[in-house]
Amino acid sequence: MILSTHFITGTAVASCTDSPLLVVVLPLVLHFILDMIPHWEYVNDTSELKNRIPSIAIDALAGPIAILAVLLLVFGVNYGMIIWLFVGGTISVIPDGLSLLHVLLPKNKLLKQIFAFHETIHNKKMLVRKIGFPLQIAIDLLAIILIILPKA
Ligand SMILES: [Zn+2]
Repeated sequence: MILSTHFITGTAVASCTDSPLLVVVLPLVLHFILDMIPHWEYVNDTSELKNRIPSIAIDALAGPIAILAVLLLVFGVNYGMIIWLFVGGTISVIPDGLSLLHVLLPKNKLLKQIFAFHETIHNKKMLVRKIGFPLQIAIDLLAIILIILPKA
C-alpha cells in the first residue's frame, strides 16, 4: 500500500488503544496485513524509487496533513491525541522506511532480512490504478471514520 494509507490506518489503530505496547505492535502488524491484500502502488520496484521522489514526498505528507486536518476539525487542538495518533501512523510506515534504507544500504544484513520478509509477505498481484487508487481512498475514509467514532 502507499505511505498515506499506511499512515492513516496506523493512526486509526492508535485511536482504538491507549496501550503503549499496542500502539507500537498493532500498526506494524496492520502494515503487513494491508500489504497482503492485492493493491496498487506507484512504485513497482525499488529501482524506480529515485525517479519517484516527488510522488513519495507528496504521499508521505498527505497522510499526516489529512489526519491533522481531521483531528483539528473534529476534536480541536488536542496535543496528546495528535501525538498519540501520529506515533501509530509513524510506526505504520516504518517497514517501508526500512525498505528505503535497504536500498540505500544494501550491504546491511538486518535490513536485507527485514526487506526479504516484507517482500515475501507483500502481495504480488498489483491492481491497476483505476481500481487500486479508489480502493486505498476507501480504506483511508474507513480509517478516518474509525478515528471520529466515539470510543467506548
Ligand atoms: Zn509495505
